[in-house]
Amino acid sequence: MPELPEVEVLARHLRRLIRGKTIRAVNVRRAKVLRPTPPRTFRPTLPGAKFTGLSRRGKYLLFQLRGKTAGKPISLLGHLGMTGRIFLAPKGRRLPKHTAVSLDLGVGNLIYEDTRYFGRLTLDTSAVTRLGPEPLDAGFGVETFAQSLKRSRQAIKVKLLDQGLVAGIGNIYASEALFRARLSPKLAANKLTMTQIRRLRLAIRAVLAEAIKFGSTVPLNWGENKSDGLFYFGHAPGAPDFYAERLGVYDREGQPCPNCGRPIKRITQAARSTFYCPHCQRVQ
Ligand SMILES: [Zn+2]
Repeated sequence: MPELPEVEVLARHLRRLIRGKTIRAVNVRRAKVLRPTPPRTFRPTLPGAKFTGLSRRGKYLLFQLRGKTAGKPISLLGHLGMTGRIFLAPKGRRLPKHTAVSLDLGVGNLIYEDTRYFGRLTLDTSAVTRLGPEPLDAGFGVETFAQSLKRSRQAIKVKLLDQGLVAGIGNIYASEALFRARLSPKLAANKLTMTQIRRLRLAIRAVLAEAIKFGSTVPLNWGENKSDGLFYFGHAPGAPDFYAERLGVYDREGQPCPNCGRPIKRITQAARSTFYCPHCQRVQ
């Protein structure tokens, strides 16, 4: 599942391609991804609207448009869910099998494809109002972070997935940040000391910033069949999976810890896998 860095890299990539482009036609094949916007609202709103910007909030893409009618601003919210992909396909190419929505931009089709239809492309942007601070912004202060953690008895790994605590962290970067901060994923959130909280905040920012930096350098097979256009799967066919090699613990069960060489362990927390080094990340 794409997390903050993957969505950020996607936003930077798409922004250049769609800015200034006008939507000529709207093709909705799976109305489920529009929810809660009904197709009868979605379909007539977009034709004639022009893309003016694209930003990211948490794991969401926020497309800004100027509507046909009196230049009215329109926001379109995208979320890739588990298997969603958004890419610009060349004009004339047949739409992929799992195309949920296709927007004709003249130069090509902006396609939202999703094999499982868990994602969203909707005019309802209310989901972003429930998000916590952006971890890379100045608003992600240590005091606010500490106060939110003090109110929770959940294991810190599980709490980090709460998008109201801090936006954009998922299973991969939660494990990676805790490894970087040398904190046990099993620690109760309200038991962390201020020193540990400071360390965790810095670790979160570091793993996310590094992933964005790295993702921006990876050659991506945007829109090609074997790639989802996200950098952790974005390597060329046959090339080494150089992204996985960058992760310290995630999906590395049984492999040696990069710090101490002891085997990485996998446990299940709240029905999700957590990867950690029991030696480097002891409960203190
Ligand atoms: Zn270790």
